[in-house]
Parts: sequence; C-alpha cells; structure tokens
Amino acid sequence: MKKSLFFLIAFGLAFGCPLAIKAEPAAVDKTKLLLISNSTKAGEAFLDYPKEQIKAFLGDKPVTVLFIPYARVGTSYDEFEAAVKAKFKEIGHDAIGIHRFADPVKAVEEAQAIAVGGGNTWMLLHELRRNRLLDPVRARVRSGAPYIGWSAGSNVAAPTIKTTNDMPIIDPQGLHAFELVPFQINPHYLDAKPEGFAGESREDRLKEFLVVNPDVYVVGLREQCMLRIENGSMRLIGPSTLRVFRKDRETRELGTGDDVDFLLRK
Ligand code: ASP
Repeated sequence: MKKSLFFLIAFGLAFGCPLAIKAEPAAVDKTKLLLISNSTKAGEAFLDYPKEQIKAFLGDKPVTVLFIPYARVGTSYDEFEAAVKAKFKEIGHDAIGIHRFADPVKAVEEAQAIAVGGGNTWMLLHELRRNRLLDPVRARVRSGAPYIGWSAGSNVAAPTIKTTNDMPIIDPQGLHAFELVPFQINPHYLDAKPEGFAGESREDRLKEFLVVNPDVYVVGLREQCMLRIENGSMRLIGPSTLRVFRKDRETRELGTGDDVDFLLRK
C-alpha cells in the first residue's frame, strides 16, 4: 500500500505536475513606437513634415503626451515645450513637459503617451538617468503607452547611444538607454563625404562601431524618415531608403515596401 502510494506520488511528480502547469500564453507585445530621424525638414516649420504621421500614430482620441525636453541645451524647457505643444494642438492632441511635475517618475507611470525631443543625446541620457527615468519609461512603453522620439529621442530608444552623431558634452554615467528596440539607430544619416574632406564618413564611423559590437544591427535613418513599430512589426515611412549595417554582412538599402521585421529580432 505504502509502496503503491509512493509510486503514485513519484508518477504524479514526474508526469502529472508538469502537464498540469498550463503553458503561459505568449506575451502580447504592446510596444508602440514612432522613431523619427529629425524634427524639421530644411526650410519648413518645426515638426511640420511628420505631424500627419504623429497624428495617425496617436489615433483619434485626444491624448496629452508627456514631453521629455532633456536633450535641449542652451535654451529653456518651457520654450521647447511650447513649440511641441503648439504642433500637437494642430493635430488634435496636447503635450506637457515633464519638467512641470514634482515627481517625474509618477508622471511617466501615469502618462498616456511619451514624446522625447531632439538635441544633444548625451545630455538627454544624463538627465534621464539623473531623474531615474530609464526603467519607468521602458516599463510604461512596454505596457502600451505610445512612444514618439525624434533624433536624440530616437537614439535613446536603442540599446545604447553609441551611434549618436552628438559630441559627448557630458558624462551620462553609462551608455545604456531604453532598449525599446534591439538595433542601434543613426539619425540624420548621411552618405555624403564633402570634397576635400579627409575625416571619417558616417559609414566609416558606424563600421568602427560594428568592429567592437559585431552582433548588433545599425539602422542609418535618413532625414524625413521614420520607423513605426506596432504589434511586433515595423515599417519604414519616408522618402528615402534606410541603410542597414551589420558586421560581416553586406550593407543593405531597404525601402518602404521591404520587410524590416528581422531588425526586431535579436
Ligand atoms: N543631435 C541629434 C538630434 O537632433 C541627434 C544625433 O544626431 O545623434 O537630436
């Protein structure tokens, strides 16, 4: 009797219990991102060219976007907020600067959507870290709050800021950023190397990154282009192709009709 009970328990442990534990449904990827190369098309008003895409991304219901102006150096957050607010109002939404909140972490936790503006990426990351916002923003975006970034704001959506064009004017105490996507971004991507210029081209610099970081894709995002990520899928929007770099692989140009989802897989 004792023996059979023992076998019953042993059998149950070996086969019954694992079967009884139901497989968790695959986590639904709620991350929604609009990663824009640059805010302003030359000769046009600030945030004018991407405004229809921002509108479509945010949807019909009016949203007050929590705006993070920390990349701004030398001019005030109030000014930056006013410019962003005016543009978002044009498209039926609103924006409020995070600098208005006594508790920025709480502001992020309660944000309907988050926008991160351009400027200096090093300063942006410095301030995000100083205000302890890296984890809260990542968590809020992964739980479904739409994220809009342009320039520096797109750089910080990547795992690190190692592919920014900006000068390291301040030490951000680490290069790791939001890592909302697994690839690196180089915004304002340019192929041109001016006549008589003997310094490194943008491509040279990105290839140096790949020597040291061989397992990462880098996306050169040209002016007026953006990446929209939703439901675990990504598409390129804009007038130019994007340039994809990876160590020991052919550099590729991909257009708006091409499948770019492989960039979302590690
Ligand atoms: N300075 C750029 C910006 O506008 C970022 C970059 O070029 O990496 O935010």
